[in-house]
Amino acid sequence: MAAPVPISEVKGNTRENRTAAHSHIKGLGLTNEGRASSAGGGFIGQAAAREACGIVVDLVRAKKMSGRAVLLAGGPGTGKTALALAVSQELGTKVPFCPIVGSEIYSAEVKKTEALMENFRRAIGLRVKETKEVYEGEVTELTPEEAENPLGGYGRTISHLLITMKSAKGTKKLRLDPSIYEAIQKERVRLGDVIYIEANTGAVKRVGRSDAYATEFDLEAEEYVPIPKGDVHKKKEIVQDVTLHDLDVANARPQGGQDIMSMMGQLMKPRKTEITEKLRLEINKVVNKYIDQGVADLVPGVLFIDEVHMLDLEAFTFLNRALESPLSPLVILASNRGLTHIRGGSSLPRSAHGIPTDLLARLLIIPTHPYSPPEIQQIIKTRTKTEGLLITDPALGQVSSLGEKVSLRYALQLLAPASVLAKVSGREGGTIDVDDITECEGLFLDARRSAHNLATGDGYIA
Ligand code: ATP
Repeated sequence: MAAPVPISEVKGNTRENRTAAHSHIKGLGLTNEGRASSAGGGFIGQAAAREACGIVVDLVRAKKMSGRAVLLAGGPGTGKTALALAVSQELGTKVPFCPIVGSEIYSAEVKKTEALMENFRRAIGLRVKETKEVYEGEVTELTPEEAENPLGGYGRTISHLLITMKSAKGTKKLRLDPSIYEAIQKERVRLGDVIYIEANTGAVKRVGRSDAYATEFDLEAEEYVPIPKGDVHKKKEIVQDVTLHDLDVANARPQGGQDIMSMMGQLMKPRKTEITEKLRLEINKVVNKYIDQGVADLVPGVLFIDEVHMLDLEAFTFLNRALESPLSPLVILASNRGLTHIRGGSSLPRSAHGIPTDLLARLLIIPTHPYSPPEIQQIIKTRTKTEGLLITDPALGQVSSLGEKVSLRYALQLLAPASVLAKVSGREGGTIDVDDITECEGLFLDARRSAHNLATGDGYIA
């Protein structure tokens, strides 16, 4: 009996890091009428793009986006990633958001289309409602040794565990299977607690804690009976969120664990070690069956592909086809390029954003615009608050002017190292001051200055 595995364990943390820069974004910040409020959802400015994204959210909800996708077109640091994340947040709390960069699909080990497919499946969630059979009741008896301390005290060996549970159905004496000791110990069950024991897996959950300690026990162990399978006190509905990619992984390398996963892992007996097209089709079949039976709901999320001009013709063809699938997430593309060549052949013409015309025809294109100086200042201020940093007004002014002159990204990136310097110089509460920003500017170049250094051969090998 394996302990339930949290879903986050099958996810790499790189994706979480990628969205960390947007932790101040909580949604599009729209009013009920769909208008952008001034600093709603952590968003500052970019009102038209936010309102357009709000309409996309409505279209997704009305199931009118199938076969179509969104393109966010605008300069670097104009909030394209933040907008895509906010769209996924607006679609619901457990909606998957999968951000990738176009160039990520090129690797020596995995085919381009395979890499794209994997990310499509990361962006599709499944909410599984499982009804579990549980014994639920108040613990009225434990073995006497265990009664004086919460179970699981150090240095204890439990040879057998006898438990009496009182429930609405009456009193039940249970001799617990040895595999359940561990779960009972983990939950530190003691007398008077309300617990439930899952009938099939033996998973134990403490749902209520008693204040009282009882001291008298019935020691006639021989009277106790093992848990009879199927003799259930209560059914409980448990909801779990997974992505199709989680299911692919769990089935490719079955290790037990989360119930729905191990269950689905067992459906496809061969112990495969890689995710194949065949495996995905099998999983789709099972998923569709669960959906038809009302056991599971599909939760289409958002696949965000930044720098979409890095995709090539083959990838675009795949994308076109994938958009038609009933199992498609909302695809949001982003580009900061104008007219450019489509990758995948030197003879290919130039096209808007490096995207082929057949895909362009399917896109809702939303422009993002550069920020005004007060907006930049406001964004930086919001960010310092989210990161828990203190900054003086003149230093904030200086970072904001870097945001205007260089880029918002560069300005935001200086905040963390500047706070390190502030702490090192022993400033009160680590408050960032003008000197820290100036020093950071000297230590960390922006792209333009770095390129200039290279071009002028400033100590570099030409
Ligand atoms: P790139 O083209 O470089 O990928 P981008 O257009 O995707 O850039 P983001 O990464 O979304 O830009 O924005 C840069 C940073 O500024 C992020 O931390 C983002 O959360 C923040 N940001 C951008 N626009 C806004 C906004 N309107 N309000 C609040 N924060 C914003």
